[in-house]
Amino acid sequence: MTILVAGTGPAGLIAALALAHDGHVVALVGPPARRDDRRTTALMVPALALLDRIGVLKELQSAAAPLRTMRIVDATSRLVRSPVVTFRASEIDEDAFGLNIPNAALNPALEEVVRSHPAIDWLESIVAAWHPGSDRIEAKLEDGTRVSAKLAVAADGRLSPAREAAGIRTTAHSYPQTALVLNFAHSRDHEFISTEFHTETGPCTQVPLPGHRSSLVWVVNPVTAEQLLQLNDKALSERVEERLQSMLGRVTVEPGRQAYPLSATLPLRFARNRVALVGEAAHVFPPIGAQGLNLGIRDVQDLVEIAGRHRSDPGGPVALGAYDARRRPDILARSSAVNLLNRSLLSDLLPSQFARTAGLGIIGGFGPLRAFFMREGMRPGSGFANLFGTLREKVGRQ
Ligand SMILES: Cc1cc2nc3c(=O)[nH]c(=O)nc-3n(C[C@H](O)[C@H](O)[C@H](O)COP(=O)(O)OP(=O)(O)OC[C@H]3O[C@@H](n4cnc5c(N)ncnc54)[C@H](O)[C@@H]3O)c2cc1C
Repeated sequence: MTILVAGTGPAGLIAALALAHDGHVVALVGPPARRDDRRTTALMVPALALLDRIGVLKELQSAAAPLRTMRIVDATSRLVRSPVVTFRASEIDEDAFGLNIPNAALNPALEEVVRSHPAIDWLESIVAAWHPGSDRIEAKLEDGTRVSAKLAVAADGRLSPAREAAGIRTTAHSYPQTALVLNFAHSRDHEFISTEFHTETGPCTQVPLPGHRSSLVWVVNPVTAEQLLQLNDKALSERVEERLQSMLGRVTVEPGRQAYPLSATLPLRFARNRVALVGEAAHVFPPIGAQGLNLGIRDVQDLVEIAGRHRSDPGGPVALGAYDARRRPDILARSSAVNLLNRSLLSDLLPSQFARTAGLGIIGGFGPLRAFFMREGMRPGSGFANLFGTLREKVGRQ
């Protein structure tokens, strides 16, 4: 039974591979994978386990760096500020939370494995029109080809034409923020620590790469982003070093900076009319705490599991109802947490400043709660299981 996957960003390529790996025949529609993406993606251990299963992790190891410690620094100049919060993977008995992988390595690695998979037929075109029916859904491609399937996986990004064709409405808004993305070399060792500086315009996050190199996602207002984009390398290196409080010593930015305007989109449903949403078709939010593609990979894992249980009709109402119910809590929890944190950074209102700093202060000062957030950040649900165990142990000891 063929499953149609629309979109060849990381979510679409991973969905095609994971479905094919589970015995489905896949028709994949989309252009060649992007090679000019300067972003890096921090993927947590469970997401890496899936990449390993579908045969792409090994090739990525040398381009990636482990994330052993994650730090949040309140770099606002506001009246109420939180203390530095540090999360160490060793506190939850892990060697690392995950790996930071350049998208310029991830996308081609995924493409190579997809192209060599015998159960995936990659049609290098774009879906021009969708026709959802009661038994099947049909896609008419720009080159005139027609593809029909019982299930269409919408991995076609934040504007998702497949989502629209399925009649799934969304709530959406844009933030007055742009993420400036670049990679840089530095004179001091990063010791595999990632630091997220919280500023009045959004987070500025340094994430380690192999050697004395790191990636940076610096969220600023659109006017500042434009100014930073125009600076020469020397001037920009100085600005980055200043923003990072010289914690990594001398900074030298590498060529190829990019800007990504920030927005949030949340569909009212995650599947309907033979279409299941994955990746940014299912959730868009600001890049805080490395959540986006990790969540997208969990979409894929749940979809594969449900499609496997409904092999005769993976796009029927029962399968899609199960998918919607399964994904809803995870997607809503992540989207609202990230959007709330982002808004609290932008807000000048004292109550929201108090809530953010008190929240971070409590998490930072209480080990079991810190461990809870670390585990939840990696595997939803596992934090609860361990938190109750740890608390019981503590109470038992008293
Ligand atoms: C600055 C920044 C930093 C980030 N860092 C992290 C991180 O550290 N960790 C993390 O987990 N996430 C991170 N994210 C989120 C992550 O980048 C996204 O979740 C991910 O790129 C989404 O991939 P996608 O495949 O869903 O969408 P996209 O990459 O947008 O792919 C959509 C695909 O659909 C195709 N398409 C569109 N229309 C059609 C059509 N009609 N027919 C066929 N194909 C179509 C497009 O050509 C494209 O190939 C970050 C995001 C940003 C902006």
